[in-house]
Amino acid sequence: MRIAIASYGQETSSFSPVPTTLETYELYGLFEGEQILEKCREVGAIGGFMQTFDAELEWTPVPIIHGWAGASGPLTAETLHHFAKKIADGLKAAGPLDAMYFALHGAAVADGVHDTEAYLLYIVRQVIGEEVPLVISLDHHANLTQAMVAQVDALVGHRTQPHDQYETGVLAGRLLLGILRKQLEPVMAWRKIPLITHQEQFLTAHGPMKAWFDLAREMETRPGVLSTSNFPMQPWLDVPEGGWATAVVTNGDQALAEELADELADRAWALREEFCRLDSISPQEAVRRAQEAEKGLVILSDTGDSVFGGATGDSTTILAELVRQEVSSLALVPMVDPETVEAAIAAGVGGTLTVMVGGKLDPNFGTPLELTAEVVAIGGGRFDVNMLGFESFDLGQAVLLAVGAIRILVTEKRGIGGNHPSVYEHFDIDLADAKMVVLKTASNWQFYQQWISEVIRVDTPGGTTSHLEELPWQHLPRPIYPLDEMAEE
Ligand SMILES: [Zn+2]
Repeated sequence: MRIAIASYGQETSSFSPVPTTLETYELYGLFEGEQILEKCREVGAIGGFMQTFDAELEWTPVPIIHGWAGASGPLTAETLHHFAKKIADGLKAAGPLDAMYFALHGAAVADGVHDTEAYLLYIVRQVIGEEVPLVISLDHHANLTQAMVAQVDALVGHRTQPHDQYETGVLAGRLLLGILRKQLEPVMAWRKIPLITHQEQFLTAHGPMKAWFDLAREMETRPGVLSTSNFPMQPWLDVPEGGWATAVVTNGDQALAEELADELADRAWALREEFCRLDSISPQEAVRRAQEAEKGLVILSDTGDSVFGGATGDSTTILAELVRQEVSSLALVPMVDPETVEAAIAAGVGGTLTVMVGGKLDPNFGTPLELTAEVVAIGGGRFDVNMLGFESFDLGQAVLLAVGAIRILVTEKRGIGGNHPSVYEHFDIDLADAKMVVLKTASNWQFYQQWISEVIRVDTPGGTTSHLEELPWQHLPRPIYPLDEMAEE
């Protein structure tokens, strides 16, 4: 069996001013051909897929391209063209194929192209034809579209938030194995749901998202149901087909698929007010609570500046509050600011500098903060850390600055914005000594789990604001809840 494998991942924030280029992909991992097998055999969705096939049959993977770029603004046209060309040329050169697996994120926009995944799937079909089975996996924050669904034999989305990329690859692998062994004849039904909500209720272990995802898991235990995937679309995607969705794959039973898709869509709609509940509190209140907490580690989740949602990672809102309240115990804050990195390196370890830090990358939300800080250490570089489906990330040069009890990790590149403890350990900081850490994510604090005493969501401005009604929407289909009045039903 010769199976083509490829992956293309980026989560677009339509409101980010930072374009996504091939250099962005290189920061997280852009591989071709055999390099994909070396780097991804056990990592991410591709790893889960390959391990599943390795265990089940003799096969020859035909690796085409792998790219992950995190979350930022739209891709440049050249960047999308690069993937399109590599995929077309790679599949043409591959010769006869028995199937293809394509790992996608599902919410990537490029200049002039609202639905880049459907575009790439079209290119795939142009080369492999209609008969070769094509299975895709998606991030559950994907924007599922008509053109995506129409071009694939089956699809599966992540089951949990935090993301379970590897397991999703396993599920996609099992679906494709069933098709190749002629045990399964998948049919799909899907529904669009006129909903777009902030990310504060996105964890699948609690609240309404748990209720909705649990229903999908229960349905998968029913006879004939192969896969049910819910898609609470990432909240900053301004596209004409935007909004939540659900998709059901059954073994040849279209009526059953339609019925379950209706039921899943109805459940999400019934929970809509709960999905919109805000838990975040003001920066003043959050820092006061963290100060007064008996012990660390208190997570201060910077909801408006989530680097995994496409924000720039240089918001100074919480840092300014930490300075203003003169926090007395070790507080860790990440900050993307190449200019400050350069100035700190010039000052040298032990030197002092007065700089305008942060707030420069997003003209809509940025407010630089003037600080006088001591340079504690200089470092940075590429970190080999298997997280969220990629195997390494690059911070560029990085410095550690001290302002009282605050330690600011200033980096040249955004990387993962301090969301993994390895970046602090790199500077010999023991997380057990820290009282609080600002994380640039609204969900992914799992890497700090062993130290966490409390998580506080902070209501901060920025590209990933929870206040979706304040964003300048242009393309989203209307009406949509909760931005518009909707008829009760
Ligand atoms: Zn996601």
